[in-house]
Amino acid sequence: MSQNAARNLGPATALACRECGESYDLGPRYACEQCFGPLEVTYDYSQVSRERIEAGPQNIWRYRDLLPVPSNVAETPNTEPGFTRLVRADNLAETLGVRTLWVKDDSGNPTHSFKDRVVGVALAAARELGFKVLACPSTGNLANAVAAAAARAGIRSAVFVPSDLEQQKIVTTAVYGGTFVTVDGNYDDVNRLASEIAGEQDDWAFVNVNVRPYYAEGSKTIGYEVAEQLGWRLPDQIVVPIASGSQLTKIDKAFQELIRLGLVEDKPYKVFGAQATGCSPVAAAFKAGHDVVRPVKPDTIAKSLAIGNPADGPYVLDAVRRTGGAIEDVSDDEVVDSIGLLARAEGIFGETAGGVTLGSLRKLLASGALDPGAETVFINSGDGLKTLDAVAPVAKPSANIAPTFDAFRKAGLV
Ligand SMILES: *Cc1c(COP(=O)(O)O)cnc(C)c1O
Ligand SMILES: [Zn+2]
Repeated sequence: MSQNAARNLGPATALACRECGESYDLGPRYACEQCFGPLEVTYDYSQVSRERIEAGPQNIWRYRDLLPVPSNVAETPNTEPGFTRLVRADNLAETLGVRTLWVKDDSGNPTHSFKDRVVGVALAAARELGFKVLACPSTGNLANAVAAAAARAGIRSAVFVPSDLEQQKIVTTAVYGGTFVTVDGNYDDVNRLASEIAGEQDDWAFVNVNVRPYYAEGSKTIGYEVAEQLGWRLPDQIVVPIASGSQLTKIDKAFQELIRLGLVEDKPYKVFGAQATGCSPVAAAFKAGHDVVRPVKPDTIAKSLAIGNPADGPYVLDAVRRTGGAIEDVSDDEVVDSIGLLARAEGIFGETAGGVTLGSLRKLLASGALDPGAETVFINSGDGLKTLDAVAPVAKPSANIAPTFDAFRKAGLV
């Protein structure tokens, strides 16, 4: 693979180190050669306008002037993620005693989680950078998204997951074909293995490892959509699940870009984070007032968030503290309870990550960290059909009866 080929990555101009600021040409690199800090895409924003965005397709490519992708990206085969619904949750707001509440429901993406966004951008950049295989270590949803996107693009995929993954996510990955490996270890073990393979196979794009700077930018589209769907303005508060922490930091980056570009009015907003207690290294660091995140061994039903050593943990702490937010964590029982509450109140079946986020929102309200009078958005990042086992014990039919009116009457349901 050539390091020097001309890159058509649209408005992207360079990669800059988040720690020391060193700048690099766009290419297949992800760590600073000076300090090993993570690299982040920088842009020429001169093409960006509301008019160009609004004239774009009803998916993430409407924001292509803000993403590291070729300008003709909408014409190349991809899974067309994004522009998921923003649901006004009045029933839930009333139950919780909140004035204005919205759910950004990312279960509506092509493989039913927010991961289609990051994979869409990673795929478009990886092709331009000359990679031949789309790969990843995954806690499940990323595996779904990579396998599907590679299938549609007509290229090979290679995905690696912990072998104790939910059965639903195994099937919904395998169905797309491609190379699919289950590994006897936790996500952090799988991630380490993937980094080793990436070091050897230099035409394999591990979306969240060696093309991570491009991949991560895909999460900005959640922030753009929330602002556009609110009529080009920012909410006062947003509650975001944390796995590696990328999504949270990029929603914050999106809001900052929109302010800087004058696409929304400049106003303060607060970013809140959500974790499962069984894997809450960032919440623990926040509560202890630490700047560093101490890795943990995950033990939670919220497997899509079970990253014990989150790559973007310190940047999450920065964003949350800078905006005046907070980070909360909830038990597995609270996760299940919140999945049920969202379903009963709004008719939205979220996966365990959605339960973590709503559960944390409820705790943040109870502690007074979240203002019930301010406009609040929370993310439902995946579909409940992918984590059925979590709710199966509490989601059951009302009765089982013989097919007679008499049996129905005796069941006492009216
Ligand atoms: C991956 C994932 C997240 C968050 O991921 P980050 O690594 O923090 O960007 C949130 N929800 C679901 C359902 C996910 O699969
Ligand atoms: Zn550096």
